[in-house]
Amino acid sequence: EEHKPSNFLRGIIERDLAEGRYDGRRYAGTPGDSTHQASGPLDPARVRLRFPPEPNGYLHVGHAKSIWVNFGLAQDYGGVCHMRFDDTNPEKEEQEYVDSILDAVQWLGYSWDAYGSSHLYYASNYFDFMYRAAEYLIENGHAYVDEQTPDEMRARRGDFGTPGTDSPFRNRPPAESLARLREMRDGRHPDGAMVVRAKIDMASPNINMRDPAIYRIKHATHHNTGDTWCIYPMYSFAHPIEDALENITHSVCTLEFEDQRPFYDWTLERIVPILRAPEFEAARQLVAQIRQQGGDTARQFALHCSGFAHKLYSSDAETQLCALFQRWEQTPDAVADELGPFFDLLERETRHFTPLLAHALQAHKIEPFNLPHQYEFARLNLTYVITSKRKLKQLVDEGIVDGWDDPRMPTIVGLRRRGYTPEAIRLFCERTGVSKAGGWIDYANLDGALREDLEGKAPRAMAVLDPLKLRLTNWAELFGSDAHLEPCGAPAHPARPELGKREFALGRELWIEREDFMEAPPKGYHRLYPGNMVRLKYGYVIKCTGCEKDDQGRVTAVQAEVVPDTKSGTPGADSVKVKGVITWIGAADAVPAEVRLYDRLFTEAQPDAGGKDFKQALNPDSMKVVTAYLEPSLAQAGAEARFQFERHGYFVTDRKAHAPGQLVFNKITGLKDSWGK
Ligand code: ATP
Ligand code: MG
Ligand code: MG
Repeated sequence: EEHKPSNFLRGIIERDLAEGRYDGRRYAGTPGDSTHQASGPLDPARVRLRFPPEPNGYLHVGHAKSIWVNFGLAQDYGGVCHMRFDDTNPEKEEQEYVDSILDAVQWLGYSWDAYGSSHLYYASNYFDFMYRAAEYLIENGHAYVDEQTPDEMRARRGDFGTPGTDSPFRNRPPAESLARLREMRDGRHPDGAMVVRAKIDMASPNINMRDPAIYRIKHATHHNTGDTWCIYPMYSFAHPIEDALENITHSVCTLEFEDQRPFYDWTLERIVPILRAPEFEAARQLVAQIRQQGGDTARQFALHCSGFAHKLYSSDAETQLCALFQRWEQTPDAVADELGPFFDLLERETRHFTPLLAHALQAHKIEPFNLPHQYEFARLNLTYVITSKRKLKQLVDEGIVDGWDDPRMPTIVGLRRRGYTPEAIRLFCERTGVSKAGGWIDYANLDGALREDLEGKAPRAMAVLDPLKLRLTNWAELFGSDAHLEPCGAPAHPARPELGKREFALGRELWIEREDFMEAPPKGYHRLYPGNMVRLKYGYVIKCTGCEKDDQGRVTAVQAEVVPDTKSGTPGADSVKVKGVITWIGAADAVPAEVRLYDRLFTEAQPDAGGKDFKQALNPDSMKVVTAYLEPSLAQAGAEARFQFERHGYFVTDRKAHAPGQLVFNKITGLKDSWGK
């Protein structure tokens, strides 16, 4: 296992684990539904994270970072990461996106089926609970239905530095708000007629705390719940509930949600009693047990509870309970008789005794009592790339690229098709780290990680991408016939002899790169020009004697003579010193292939920064298709096979277009050191 440098999220988790703050147990059943039970087998997972994309598009490199963070942390600390679809918005979501997201997570090397459960989580499965939470907040004076128009609401919201003003509906009786909410739910009002708002503080310096909307009307069909609902929760209200129902310990998101954290906490603190309904159920069972057994169990329970009761409660009912506890403590044997009234009280007042019960339950090892915490890190911004789903969709819809998986797209399907490996992407994520400080990461980091991953893995091969014919004019003279083929070879990988050798033939005619010949070379050019000698890599030294041209004066072939006894790997190989070595493909066994040469999609490092029109920055030369000649060893290349083409860089067989007998390669990236410098 490679060394994992620390980052602030790892620091937080390590601290929490050291302090024993998180020690999760598994809930049986699906969170949020009635089968959900607090009791269940011990869950070995101690930290629980989630990756919660909205299934409204294909994931991009920024999401890859988030996947790496969440699934990676779970993996590092023996926890689990929930794969959750944040599908609270009815209009934009599609199964195609769900499938592609699952595929991307798996391809990146992660799975959500730790501990034998391959359960997928859907936020929309919690709509019943979310609605109940809205009613609960209203009943308890923490929310109200606002019938102002959107404009009126905006006008009263205030601004940075200017406090807002209260809505005229803010102090309406809870019963009235509740009645409106039910009408909203029953479809009695059109979209936008009213919203449910949390009742917090219209003067808060944090605008997100100025009575944010939590439910809105939207007459729209949802991909999962169909037409069951015509009201939907706002994201900022739904998200903490999703996390809490799933017992998430660390809810990691990007910095733009930092200002939402106070509302995240506000929501959870207020709905604890209904969130913990399964725990209260367990408490009732505990009391029933005490009723049956009396004596010691009751005494233990009372002892655990009494200390907390003093501190936490003061209302009449609570005082009564405190007194009861104290008496239990003093005369435990009399407890059994008093359990009846206590039980009734508990039934009636349950929701006021949350912290008390939580402690009692914890003491009885029934259920831990943790609420999730939100932590934010800086999102990944990668140069020469845009990572807004909306803008990426625009590139696809306007035909600027060839679909979501175009190899120039920063989508995970695009990166995959381009040839990036999951290992390289994970290495890139690790290298670029996790921090609170935003900034731009240079795209070169991704290519660096790719090279580092493939350097030791990718078999080598020669390829001629811009072919020019070379004729060896003294071939028959040296080898007895123009048809003679001289066998040549090279290791599949220079540092890995176990990968074997590749074989290819040198004959009278071969292909070289057009740029490797110049009739009138500039100073310092060491490749082919009349009179100069170079080595054909893995072959002979040759001496250029001239060239052939067409009517337009364009060079159509180069002529050269083989220098005898200079074949690589033979004793005479070094007898003639040359300054240039060129790659080549023998015409006799050359394998033709379509090679797609990709460059960055944008010419500017921050194509959409500051609201710029990113389409102005499109690179007109981001793709060039050439017919290349490859070594015969590549004729059988399989799907998603990656190679280093000597001197050119890393290439992969195209996932879609490549097939036996129809070779199609994509250029992933060049070599670090460019050729011929
Ligand atoms: P977009 O704004 O492009 O629509 P999004 O952030 O709305 O993307 P979600 O589906 O909500 O997309 O994202 C799922 C998770 O991925 C979220 O937790 C989000 O914070 C995270 N994420 C999205 N973009 C990045 C990024 N560039 N860097 C790190 N994490 C990201
Ligand atoms: Mg989002
Ligand atoms: Mg977004």
